[in-house]
Amino acid sequence: MSIRSTHRDTTPKAWIGCLTCYNEGVLNGHWYDAVDAGDVTPKDLHHGRETSHEELWVFDHENIPVRDEMDQVTAAGWGNVLSQVDDDLEREALCAWVESGDYIVDGETDYPSLLFFRDAYQGHWVDFDEFARSLAADMGLLDDVPEHIARYFGWESWISDLRFDYREETTPVDRYGVFVFRAV
Ligand SMILES: [Zn+2]
Repeated sequence: MSIRSTHRDTTPKAWIGCLTCYNEGVLNGHWYDAVDAGDVTPKDLHHGRETSHEELWVFDHENIPVRDEMDQVTAAGWGNVLSQVDDDLEREALCAWVESGDYIVDGETDYPSLLFFRDAYQGHWVDFDEFARSLAADMGLLDDVPEHIARYFGWESWISDLRFDYREETTPVDRYGVFVFRAV
C-alpha cells in the first residue's frame, strides 16, 4: 500500500496570461508548472511571434498556499520552494502550515523556511489524540508507573495542555486525518 500512488497531484501550477489581451477581452494564457513560470515570455503566449504585448500576469494558480494573484517571479519562487519537498503529502503539510498563518518565513521573503518546517512538522495522524498518545509513549511518560495506576492517568488534561505546544491542521483528504505541527 502506498499513500503516494493514490494521492492527488500537488505540483504547483500557474496560469500565466497576457494582460493586454485580457484588457481587450481575450483570455490568452496557459497553465505552466510554477517552477518554470519565470521563463514564460510574451512571445510564448502569442504563437511564438514578436508582440507589443509585454506584461504577463499569473491570473490563477493551484497548489500554492496563498490566495492572491501574483507576478511570474513570485510564482516561480513558490514553485522553487515547494519543489524542494518531493513527497506529495509532506508538500500538502507545508501548504497547510503556511495557510494556518502560524509559520516561519525564510529570511526576508514571504516563502516558508523549510528548515523550520521540517522541525515543526510532526507527521499526519488519525487525530490529535493519536499523536499525543504516541508522543507519550516515545517520551516514556508512564514507563515507570505501575499499570494499575497508569490507567488512572489524566489523559484529557495532559492532552489539552499539549495543545499549547502543538497545533493540528486538517488534511485535504479526510482519510489522512490531521497534520500536527509544533507551535511556532
Ligand atoms: Zn497579448
